[in-house]
Amino acid sequence: MSLHTIIPSKELLEYLQQVSLRESPLLKRLREETAKRSDSNMQICPEQGQFMALLATISGACRAIEIGTYTGYSALCVASALPEGGKLVCCDINEETTDIAQRYWAEAGLNDRIELRLAPALETLEELIATAAGTFDFGFVDADKSNYDAYYERLLQLMRPGGLILFDNVLWNGAVIDPDKNDPDTKAIRLLNNRLHGDERISLSMLPIGDGLTLARVR
Ligand code: SAH
Ligand code: CA
Repeated sequence: MSLHTIIPSKELLEYLQQVSLRESPLLKRLREETAKRSDSNMQICPEQGQFMALLATISGACRAIEIGTYTGYSALCVASALPEGGKLVCCDINEETTDIAQRYWAEAGLNDRIELRLAPALETLEELIATAAGTFDFGFVDADKSNYDAYYERLLQLMRPGGLILFDNVLWNGAVIDPDKNDPDTKAIRLLNNRLHGDERISLSMLPIGDGLTLARVR
């Protein structure tokens, strides 16, 4: 197999950010506030946020759903890229972090575009399947890894044909190729990666951005 993808050094990644990042002052403030928390490594990196916003724009997404919102950085990126009248449904179970998220969304004037559903995401997804199957254009999966496959199957029902589903952390800091790592999260991510690879219902691409991001376009 040929290996042509560059593995960037820290310095090269800094350069990449220097010459391409267009993080708004609000996003930057949210990132800095989140950085004070001990769990801040859960937040996507800014270049990934910018990429996801571009994907939302390119795909013409109007209705989006996010599973795993935390302090709202990825949601802010995606919601900002939706057109007037667009909608992002955010699923999370943590009131404390989503309170932070909501402060920033309000400041961005995005309250009418973002609907937070504080409940286990599987419950929210089941509710949405009952009322809004086939109506979503864009999905981002970034919550508990052991449910990734369950989220995937439900998102397939929620997406319209041509809809785009993104999965975060698909390289899991390299654990996916470490034979000594067999915890439930690592196993779940390996399982999902293998399933997606052979799944004819989607077109597929896996990118080494952030902790690994998979793009799955529903056929
Ligand atoms: N996308 C976010 C990071 C998400 S971190 C960002 O870019 O900042 C993962 C989130 O998933 C956490 O906030 C956690 O509360 C949430 N989560 C974990 N289990 C969940 C579940 N069963 N249902 C919904 N959310 C869940
Ligand atoms: Ca993540």
